[in-house]
Parts: sequence; structure tokens; C-alpha cells
Amino acid sequence: MNVKLIIFDIDGTLCHSRYIDDKCYIQAFKKGLDLDIKNTDWNSYKHVTDHFVTKQIILTETGNPPGKDLIEMIIDYYAEELKIQLDKDDTSFTAIPGVKRMFEYFYNNSDKYKTGIATGGFRKTAMYKLDKIGINFPEEHIYSSNNYDTKQEMIRELMYRNISNKINFDKVIYVGDREYDFQVAKELNIDFIGIDFKGNGKLRSLGIENVINNYDPIEKFLALI
Ligand SMILES: [Mg+2]
Repeated sequence: MNVKLIIFDIDGTLCHSRYIDDKCYIQAFKKGLDLDIKNTDWNSYKHVTDHFVTKQIILTETGNPPGKDLIEMIIDYYAEELKIQLDKDDTSFTAIPGVKRMFEYFYNNSDKYKTGIATGGFRKTAMYKLDKIGINFPEEHIYSSNNYDTKQEMIRELMYRNISNKINFDKVIYVGDREYDFQVAKELNIDFIGIDFKGNGKLRSLGIENVINNYDPIEKFLALI
């Protein structure tokens, strides 16, 4: 039996919330530490994951590496802020069309497809966002930046864990929305599918061939895997 492992990013890939996300993240530092983040060009950080960027911001601003409690506090404020903003205006956060149906399809065909999540976000906010778009994803298949600095580590772990369960994959695919995601897949020597929800053509302009705007209809996605 041919089994495929499909691993998804969250932000920009399963849901879209960039503007509100940044705003809430920045606000969490303001609320928790009365701190204005000077460098909000996330791509300029060595690893673009929430956990790494948070550690780096606190280290740069205070001169001390943060303890677990401090990071937990920022996560809590960030999650709280997200909830406040989304309660105020739920149009600011959208599921990428077809997402729910796609996961239903994979669950119903779990002998052929295994799925996982590798997100640069925090576990708490990732769970909240998935819940918000109506996806009930098994927590043990969600890898977040809480425990890993890079997506490479998360994906390797997901592959390893599944392999140790004696599943041999004939294909592993990472689905993401940024050039960084493409680079991660390339480095791991796995396939990549780009999601260009806003249709700005950026991924295609980088020479990436497998790019779609959303998962509706699902056949469009299935044709690429
Ligand atoms: Mg993303």
C-alpha cells in the first residue's frame, strides 16, 4: 500500500490572519513587558518561528535570555489578544477555502494518507486557530515552535515518529505559503506544494511549479500529490 505523509504549515496555508496576527503578537509584548518591538521584519530573524523570535526579542531588549515563565506569559497575552480581536471582528480571520473538506477526505482515507502539522507558531495559538476554522486535529500530530527552533526539526521528527510506527511513505510533502517553507522542503529533500491564497504570484515567480490558491475543489490538490 502506498502511503503519503502530508505536513501542513498553518498561517497562510490553512488560515489567513496575517494582519491581525502581527498586531496581537506585538500587543502581547506591550501588555506583558511594556515593550515596543523594534524589529518587526520577521524574515530577518535567524529562525522564523514564534518561539525563536520571542526569545530573540527579549534577549535583545533586556540583555537577558528569557526564562520559561516569561515566554509563557507572552504566549498567554498573545492568545488572549487573538481571542479579543477575533471576537470583535471574525472576518479578520479566514479559513483557506476547502480546508475542512480536505481534512475530512484524509481522515476517511487514512489508509492512504497521513497528515501532520509543522507550524512556526506556538502550540496554544495553533490549537486556537485550528479550532476556529473547525479542524479537530489530533494534538500529537501537531508540531509547534514550543519544542523546536526550526521547521526542519519538526518535520524530521514527524517523519521519524511515523517511520518508527512501521509506516513506509512513498512520498512526504510539505504544504506552505512562503519561500522559507519551500527552502525547508528542499533541504529535507521532500516535495512542496505552495499555497498562494491572495494570488500575488510570489511563489510562482520563484520558479515553484506546484502552487494553488486554495483546496477547493479538492481534486486540484490531490492532483499535485
Ligand atoms: Mg505560513
